[in-house]
Amino acid sequence: MSTAYTNYSSSLDLSKKLIIRCPFSKCHTRLIQTHSPNIQELDIKSIKFLKTTNPDTNPTTIEEHDSNLNKYIKIDDVWDFDNIGVSKEFNQDQSDSVKLERLIICSDCERGPLGFATFEDNSTDVKDLKYYLHLDSVVYQTVQ
Ligand SMILES: [Zn+2]
Repeated sequence: MSTAYTNYSSSLDLSKKLIIRCPFSKCHTRLIQTHSPNIQELDIKSIKFLKTTNPDTNPTTIEEHDSNLNKYIKIDDVWDFDNIGVSKEFNQDQSDSVKLERLIICSDCERGPLGFATFEDNSTDVKDLKYYLHLDSVVYQTVQ
C-alpha cells in the first residue's frame, strides 16, 4: 500500500501536523515535520525551483505565473530537519533580494534544489543560517 503525498495547495490544512518530504517518488525521504509553517514571500530569481507535479517523469521549473512563485517555508534551526543536504557554492543573480549562501537538496537522492539557506542580521556563523523550502518543491503528508 502506498501513501499519498500531496503538492502544496490552498486546501492543505496547515494547522495539522505535516511531514514534508522529498518530491521524487523513488525517494520521498522525510525532510521535516512541522505544523503552522512560517510562510514567507521572497523574490529570488537566480534559481529555477522544481515543481512537484511528477518531478520524475516530467521535471518542470516554476514559472513566473505560478501563484506560489515567491513563497517559502522558513525553518529557523537546521536541527529541526530530519534529513537535509546542502549544495556547494553557486553563482547568484545580483538582483535577488537576499544573499543565498547554500542551496538545499535532498540528503538521500541529492536532487533539488528544494530551497536555500541564508544569513540574517549580518551573521556569518553557519549555526545562524536560516532555511527556506520552496512551497512547490516538496510534497506533504498530513498526520492526524
Ligand atoms: Zn530525495
